[in-house]
Amino acid sequence: MSDHETEGGIDLFETAAEFNEEEKRIRDTVRRFVDERVIPIIADHFENGTFPSELIPILAEMGLLGSQLPPEYGGSGLGALAYGLVMQELERGDSSLRSFVTVQGTLSMYSIYSYGTEEQKKKWLPRLAKAEAIGCFALTEPDHGSDPAGMVTTAREDSGAFVLNGSKMWITNGAIADVAIVWAKLDGEVQGFLVEKGTPGFTALEQKHKLSLRASHTGELYFNDCRIPLENRLPKAVGLKAALSILNEARFGISFGVVGAAINCFETALEYAKGRTQFDRPIAGFQIQQERFAEMATEITKAQLLCIRLAQLKDTGTLRPAQVSLAKRNNCMQALQIARMARQILGANGISLEYPVMRHLCNLETVVTYEGTHDIHTLAIGREVTGISAFK
Ligand SMILES: Cc1cc2nc3c(=O)[nH]c(=O)nc-3n(C[C@H](O)[C@H](O)[C@H](O)COP(=O)(O)OP(=O)(O)OC[C@H]3O[C@@H](n4cnc5c(N)ncnc54)[C@H](O)[C@@H]3O)c2cc1C
Repeated sequence: MSDHETEGGIDLFETAAEFNEEEKRIRDTVRRFVDERVIPIIADHFENGTFPSELIPILAEMGLLGSQLPPEYGGSGLGALAYGLVMQELERGDSSLRSFVTVQGTLSMYSIYSYGTEEQKKKWLPRLAKAEAIGCFALTEPDHGSDPAGMVTTAREDSGAFVLNGSKMWITNGAIADVAIVWAKLDGEVQGFLVEKGTPGFTALEQKHKLSLRASHTGELYFNDCRIPLENRLPKAVGLKAALSILNEARFGISFGVVGAAINCFETALEYAKGRTQFDRPIAGFQIQQERFAEMATEITKAQLLCIRLAQLKDTGTLRPAQVSLAKRNNCMQALQIARMARQILGANGISLEYPVMRHLCNLETVVTYEGTHDIHTLAIGREVTGISAFK
């Protein structure tokens, strides 16, 4: 361990000094799991376009699904920083794994926890926490991504049921989910509905040909006169703001997660550059490469500092959506730039799956796009500082 590292990896401003013993223990436990169980297998899954399903029960056993929720619903009651560190360590392994945990534990479980009835919570949350059921969060449509208010999926009440029509696209875990949180317009207003696998009129297909997040399930959902019981509406999820509030929770975790991917790229490039000799000296000794390392280290440090403050604001209950937008936007784009720099440092080896860098780079192209694109978060920050909305 060199003097710019703590036991958790590069940390030039010693942000880990802010972590309590419990937070460090959780970080190290997830770190070990990723080192031992994820890193040895994830490149093959990426290459084959498969998700490492065998890890799902372990994630559940470790209490990582819905970890912020209270124990009565199967959660672990983690604070914001501990949760963020879990996300960071998972994404150090692969964005697909972190995405699975985000979709299951935050997008799906938080939707039910925040907007469901007590019966819905009791029915689904403990099962989702134990991974006895898989969830997904279906907002995006083929023609409506950044502008979900324009969605055309509808629900209407008919003889004691809701009838759903429409389609959703790019839905993580969509084709494997036992329960889909589906956002649809009822009388012109966006509302949340629980649609169970196997419901007549509901079809879920796996989306193929992805060059990013290859070790993740991504699905297309179709609703064709799909009848669901009236009690499957999330009664408190009225209006698009309900869906957006859940996305905000997920973006918090993503802001931490991508730091893990960036650290993995940085550390891989550093080890490589120290060992790779050209012109009779290690390439780490050339000024151009040192500039890259200085850039990468600076941006990782800034991202770590943003994360710490983000967690403090979340724990005090004062975190605003624009602050989450700023962190998500900055950290995702910087992680992507770091992956690109690391890839260059590795030369030809940078494009090989023998190293994690290109895999992270490809994954981060999704992470910079989903949960609000870089542009949309730019507009959200612009609205916050000018008081004028450029988009709505
Ligand atoms: C692998 C993967 C997994 C995903 N998982 C999920 C999931 O689980 N659930 C879910 O609901 N969705 C999911 N998504 C969808 C994701 O959230 C959307 O792709 C994202 O919101 C962007 O929507 P879009 O792709 O339709 O792009 P568009 O909205 O069509 O945007 C295209 C481009 O136009 C830009 N743009 C749009 N509006 C403006 C504007 N006002 N000003 C300036 N530029 C603008 C965008 O920034 C972007 O560059 C996933 C996507 C991927 C790739």
